[in-house]
Formats: sequence, structure tokens, C-alpha cells
Amino acid sequence: MLFAYDEPLYRPPSEGRNLIVQATLGCSFNRCTFCSMYKSKTYQARPLDDVFAEIDFLVNRFPQADRIFLADGDALVLPTDHLASLLDYLAEKFPNLTRVSSYAMPKNLLDKSHDELSLLRDKGLKLVYMGVESGSNLILKRIIKGASQQTHVKAIEKARAANLKISATVILGLGGQADWEEHIRGTAELINQAPVTYLSTLQLTLDDASHDDFMSHQPDTFCFQDDEGILTEQELLLSLLDPAKPIIFRSNHASNCLPLAGNIPRDRDRLLGEIAASRSDEAMLRPAFLRWL
Ligand code: SF4
Repeated sequence: MLFAYDEPLYRPPSEGRNLIVQATLGCSFNRCTFCSMYKSKTYQARPLDDVFAEIDFLVNRFPQADRIFLADGDALVLPTDHLASLLDYLAEKFPNLTRVSSYAMPKNLLDKSHDELSLLRDKGLKLVYMGVESGSNLILKRIIKGASQQTHVKAIEKARAANLKISATVILGLGGQADWEEHIRGTAELINQAPVTYLSTLQLTLDDASHDDFMSHQPDTFCFQDDEGILTEQELLLSLLDPAKPIIFRSNHASNCLPLAGNIPRDRDRLLGEIAASRSDEAMLRPAFLRWL
């Protein structure tokens, strides 16, 4: 069999060493203004027989695989029986499998019942990656995220009730220089209401394909944050986070000017100290040429 992923193919950085199975193509929403990842694709669910044939191919080459990521943009949109068959097939073929994960939008989680999510969890889906981006309803509306703060809270609570882990990403810089505080305060409010397992920050980076769409939904006065502004956002976010359960925090995505890693609230003071130190020691900041800028 000839095997090739349908490009472009994306996966979270933490899935870099894991096997990828492409269960869907594209993103069923595909409207967020800052995101061009799947603009070249029309969303479709891939037929199970095609996916099974690729799994048969992959298992011959990577029989020891223990973690699998389901691509593309929101594989959790698939009907529950479709996903259940896929998870059963993966479990049958990969005896060492300990975790299956996928991207998910809040709507994907809310469209499934608690019992459906629990079933998928029992069949091996352990972790979902959610691009929260912001907790501010003003910012969420401007970036056409298709979900409000409360929708995110409900989706995260529902996932947690089904024992699914959530890895959430927030994009620093989305509010620009005028609305950065609204962006960060709303984001902290969201996470404090519905703590996720992992929280990562990214730094707003627009490519040519998304720049015009993003800007056309911003106020005329929108100005991008510089590194100093981004550090101030990071500082306020870490100061305001007060989750009911500890959160593993990372800003190690390549877009960030300052890589940080710790546990909130335990490591808050150390992380704030690293931000303060970076203001007087430029060497701590990741050079622009390493940041896809
Ligand atoms: S950010 Fe996620 S939900 Fe939005 S268009 Fe991109 S892949 Fe789809």
C-alpha cells in the first residue's frame, strides 16, 4: 500500500514523538481569523476502512507505539460510534497503547453526552487539546472563535466529569496594545472557573494567509504587542491564576519570547521572578529568528 499523510499535517508539540493517525481532514469550523492551518482543506471524515488500512500499514512499522494522536483539526467531531470503532481498532493493533488524544473544540465536547465521552475515555481517549485562545468574550468574538467564555467553561467541566484530561492553549497578544488587560483578565477568569490539566501560552504570530482576515475583524486602532507587552500579559496571567486544582503550565511553544515551565500555584513566584529577570537580561529571551517571526 502507498501511504502518505494528507498535508499539511499538524499536531501539538507534545505529540512530536507519537504516532499520528489522520481520522479527519481539515477543521469542521475553519473560521478562526488567526488560523490558516486548514484553509487549504475542506473538512471531511475519512472512511473507517481507509483509516484501518493505514493503521495496518503503521502497525507493521511502529508496533511498539504507545501514544497516538488523531488528526486533523477536531477529530472529536466524529460521531461516537465512528470514534469508538477507531479506538477499538487501535487498541487491538497496538498492545502497548496507553493514550489516544485529539484536538477538540468546545462544541465537539458539548455535542456528546457524558456517557458518550465516558465511553470514549474507557476505550482509550485520554487527552484532548483545546485552543481556548482567550477567555474574554470581546476577544473571542473578534477572532470568530465560535465559543464564549461560558461555552469553554461548560466544555471543560464536561470533559473533566468524563475523566478526560484537557490541554488548553492561550494566545498572548490577541487583544493588542489596547485590550490586552481585558484579554488576560477574561482568560484568568475562565481558567479559574474551569481548571485544565495543562495550560500553555503561545504568542500571536500571523502568516500571510491569516493576516488580512485577522485585521479585518479588529478595531482600526489595533496595534500588535511587542515583547515587553507580551511579558506584561504573561505576568498578569500568572498573577491572576488561582485554579481550584493545580495546573501544569508551559510557555515552551516556539512562538514565545520567554520559555517558562512550572506548576500553578506552586511555582508562581519563581515564574514571575523569571519574567522580571528577563526584563534586565535580554539573553533570556528567545531570538526572533528562532520564533517563526
Ligand atoms: S483554531 Fe482550531 S477551531 Fe479554529 S479554525 Fe483553526 S483548527 Fe479550526
